[in-house]
Amino acid sequence: MESATLVCARVTGYDTNWGEQSKNILSMKRFTCPKCKQNGISFKDKYRASLWQVIYCNSCGARLCAQPWLLAFAYFIYTWAVVSFVTIAFYRESYMPILYLVLIWLSLDFISVMSMPLSVMRPLNRPP
Ligand SMILES: [Zn+2]
Repeated sequence: MESATLVCARVTGYDTNWGEQSKNILSMKRFTCPKCKQNGISFKDKYRASLWQVIYCNSCGARLCAQPWLLAFAYFIYTWAVVSFVTIAFYRESYMPILYLVLIWLSLDFISVMSMPLSVMRPLNRPP
């Protein structure tokens, strides 16, 4: 069953490959599983991983978590940013540094979600 728009697009000679294209855009937002190398991890799951949570690959079901050392380092930077900007705000008696802090916090969060590598964890039912 084809939609009228698609038929119309074909008749007028437009590229009807939209489905494929939107799939590609979606897969750009997905992250590669370190175990099965499929794009089985959604943005939401990746974000949860950056909150120290265990996530599961949609393709192979592997237990995954964010690289603990890098995540610890990212949290160190978060803490450092909060402490230094709150200190600056206190001494300058201004709320502007807090505003900058929010922006820096959001960009740090974005960078860490986008670039944090994932580690494969041992399955729960298998002895170590
Ligand atoms: Zn996988």
